[in-house]
Amino acid sequence: MGLPMTNRQYDYLIVGSGLFGSVFAQQAVENGRSVLVLEKRTHIGGNCYSAEHEDTGIIVHRYGTHIFHTPNKAIWDYVNRFSAFTRYRHRVLTKHRGRVYSMPINLGTINAFYGLDLKPGEVDAFLAARRPRIERPANLEEKAISLVGEELYRAFIAGYTEKQWARSPRELPASIINRLPVRTSYDDSYFDDTWQGLPAEGYTPIFERLLAGADIELGCDFLADRDYWRSRARRVIYTGPVDAWFDYCHGRLGWRSVRLDTEVLPVGDFQGTSVMNYADTDVSWTRIHEPKHLHPERSVRENTTVIVREYSQVDDDAPYYPIGTAADQELFGRYQEMAAREAGVRMGGRLAQYRYFDMHHVVAQALKAAREELSAGAA
Ligand SMILES: Cc1cc2nc3c(=O)[nH]c(=O)nc-3n(C[C@H](O)[C@H](O)[C@H](O)COP(=O)(O)OP(=O)(O)OC[C@H]3O[C@@H](n4cnc5c(N)ncnc54)[C@H](O)[C@@H]3O)c2cc1C
Repeated sequence: MGLPMTNRQYDYLIVGSGLFGSVFAQQAVENGRSVLVLEKRTHIGGNCYSAEHEDTGIIVHRYGTHIFHTPNKAIWDYVNRFSAFTRYRHRVLTKHRGRVYSMPINLGTINAFYGLDLKPGEVDAFLAARRPRIERPANLEEKAISLVGEELYRAFIAGYTEKQWARSPRELPASIINRLPVRTSYDDSYFDDTWQGLPAEGYTPIFERLLAGADIELGCDFLADRDYWRSRARRVIYTGPVDAWFDYCHGRLGWRSVRLDTEVLPVGDFQGTSVMNYADTDVSWTRIHEPKHLHPERSVRENTTVIVREYSQVDDDAPYYPIGTAADQELFGRYQEMAAREAGVRMGGRLAQYRYFDMHHVVAQALKAAREELSAGAA
């Protein structure tokens, strides 16, 4: 997309139409500021983007299944201003050696795996007898074994972790996991948060409403012509990768990426659930999504379903999960110091902060950033 014909001046130039940029834009517009949003993709919504699948009518989350959940009532009330939410509760199943178990590990998982009928009060003692005492776990494998024992680790954690990070868990730092939740009840809901659900029409209409009142340029990379774009507004809100802003002058931050392969199948129901993890290394994908199950209330084309196979991979242009080695953290610290010295710019969101955030965290951060900006009268 070429440069726009008008040279209108804005209070804010927002780089990125993901959740951070869009929530900030909504707050700025609500407070009477003019906003231009630049988005290098051809659609709004960042990684939350969803679209109705053309042939089937099924809502597909293009960058992986996204479930909204939050413990914070104010954030729940805020997002509900922009969409009705369904009462969907997420459950995750995992396939190991041809059998299906529920995640996170709960009483049902343990009883099915060991062929037992343990009662809730018996789980702790049962696991304690299987957990070796490892004073100082040297890597992720030792840490996980010290938490759930060797058998559950080998079945549900080892293979999945190896596929996701393309490294043996023995080569990964113990610090990646602090705790592994083990539920002593049959509760198999994936998230604990009080407020959970899915936007009834998918995520994209939320972004359309958040961005109403802002001007938007799609297919436009800010970094390709940054001096021009910076001249168009008093302040910049940047939600792209922090290392890209500084032209990778100290090197690139490490990210894992995913490849998502979509297939339409002539069956009404492929796997009976929205997400099935594959724990074993002899299956190359990490999970299969079947988005139809996210919206059982919707009527879609019969005898057809969409499935999305997810593979973990490296792709510098599609950052999904920060790797966060000690070297990455050191590098991020250097970029963070440089970012703090940049005049006229505020950085926010997962790419600028090099962190995995759930959506509710990003909404809260964008609202806070907007409060600080707008009350300080920065623009
Ligand atoms: C596979 C996966 C599943 C997830 N599932 C969940 C879930 O179930 N629940 C949950 O709460 N969270 C989930 N998340 C997290 C959620 O995706 C993030 O919290 C959210 O998308 C972060 O929003 P953001 O605005 O920070 O970043 P993004 O959504 O990445 O938005 C940044 C935007 O900036 C644009 N941009 C970058 N650089 C430039 C540039 N130079 N010029 C113009 N535009 C630029 C990008 O194209 C992008 O659109 C998941 C994440 C992943 C990876």
